[in-house]
Amino acid sequence: MVKMIIVLKSGASDEKVAYFSEQLRKKYDVQVNAWHGTQSTVLGLLGDTHKVDVESVSAYDIVESVKRVQEPYKKANRKFHPDNTVIEVCGRKIGGGELQLIAGPCSVESKEQICGIAKRVEAAGASFLRGGAFKPRTSPYAFQGLRAEGLELLLEAKKETGMPIVTEIMSADHIHLFEEVDVIQVGARNMQNFELLKELGRLDKPILLKRGLANTIEETLMSAEYIMSGGNEKVILCERGVRTFETYTRNTLDISAVPIFKKLSHLPVVVDPSHAAGIPWLIEPLALASIAAGADGLIIEVHNDPPHALSDGAQSLTPDQFDRIAARIQAADKALKGLSASAS
Ligand code: PEP
Ligand code: MN
Repeated sequence: MVKMIIVLKSGASDEKVAYFSEQLRKKYDVQVNAWHGTQSTVLGLLGDTHKVDVESVSAYDIVESVKRVQEPYKKANRKFHPDNTVIEVCGRKIGGGELQLIAGPCSVESKEQICGIAKRVEAAGASFLRGGAFKPRTSPYAFQGLRAEGLELLLEAKKETGMPIVTEIMSADHIHLFEEVDVIQVGARNMQNFELLKELGRLDKPILLKRGLANTIEETLMSAEYIMSGGNEKVILCERGVRTFETYTRNTLDISAVPIFKKLSHLPVVVDPSHAAGIPWLIEPLALASIAAGADGLIIEVHNDPPHALSDGAQSLTPDQFDRIAARIQAADKALKGLSASAS
């Protein structure tokens, strides 16, 4: 566990960094890991760092600053990894400054349905196709998803469109079925299924981790830490609203979580306004607010026939509605980028 970080001055030579790291190891009996960023090199100290004297370490000429890491999340912490993490999936970059639209139906229902929606959302500018095959439903009597067959249909839609696919996993026992899935979603209800998170930490595949219904920002980052500590650092955080006393919306979208996640962590952050709102007309304003707050992507549910959808029809947009909203989102994204370019 990284307990202390030392930011080195830019331009510190490799020899100096190696020499300094060796001195720290010998003097304090700690492990030293180096992370080379674009702006600076950061050393992370692991082990018993209580003996490390901040003042004497600060006195080395290559040291810019020394900080003890108080937060319980380490690998997800921006202090240890100042640059944004950029996750590349089939040539699309999440976290790299380009807004990614992830769209599709709540549930995969048939080949015609998923392929038809895939083509429509792709034409509107979506870069990822999302659809549920394993569905976490409140009622055991509700449609549970097409399961393995749903995954097959998503792969067919990928073959037809070339869009990478995002779909939810509910059990570690199913990991073998997800080999060809591009991004594995962990749903809000499983955010603290720690055994599942540990298993996902052993994969080399992006994990889209949704914030739990009643979980704090720190708890969400600790769940990301479970995945990352197992070796899989490709985690995408997702704000999808939390439970509050409000009943007008399905959940209360915590917009402030977006800049807070970005401040505390280097991981990409996407927002799911569909599950937050639960109401189609609220999706556009929440999507616009999310990108203004700094989201790297949006997840939006789209269904060809919402009244007959097997799940979440009430919050689904039609492909025509998605066309209009996607265009407005893209225009707003362009305007916001122009704004930040002119401010800097
Ligand atoms: C879903 O993505 O369809 C879903 C069930 O979302 P959440 O886990 O955010 O409730
Ligand atoms: Mn849904």
